[in-house]
Amino acid sequence: MATRDGDGWVQCRCGGKHWGLNGAAGLLLIRGGKIMMQHRAPWVHNGDTWGLPGGARDSHESVEEAAIRECVEETGINPEHVEVIELFTDNHNDWRYDTVIAIAHGNLDTASWNKETHDIGWFELSEIAKLDLHPSFAKSWPTLQGVVFRIIQSLES
Ligand SMILES: [Zn+2]
Repeated sequence: MATRDGDGWVQCRCGGKHWGLNGAAGLLLIRGGKIMMQHRAPWVHNGDTWGLPGGARDSHESVEEAAIRECVEETGINPEHVEVIELFTDNHNDWRYDTVIAIAHGNLDTASWNKETHDIGWFELSEIAKLDLHPSFAKSWPTLQGVVFRIIQSLES
């Protein structure tokens, strides 16, 4: 098994402190016009909020590999059902967060989530801002939303 060398905090020039020595990545799955959100367990950092499954990237991983690995660990999905469409990068220079936008195919089973996950839900784009969001996700959502909207439109046409 490859070593996990991405775990740790980065003090960023934006004034924030972020998780992931090589940055972090999350998976945004689209299915039938909805996106999959993770209700984070109360005990994790910024817990009891909704965000994307994801976490620190290891140095030997691509952002896609990191996002999918974390999502598999946290939600139990089968990665064979994930088709990556596009990357959305929030670059802080000292740190970056890559949102891997993907389509969920087939019977994506999320029933075997781990202890970092409190719940999994599928939401329309218009419902997302009403959730109690993870603060970093809340910050990027206004921009990310436009990207996801365009992708959903192109899938439906
Ligand atoms: Zn920062």
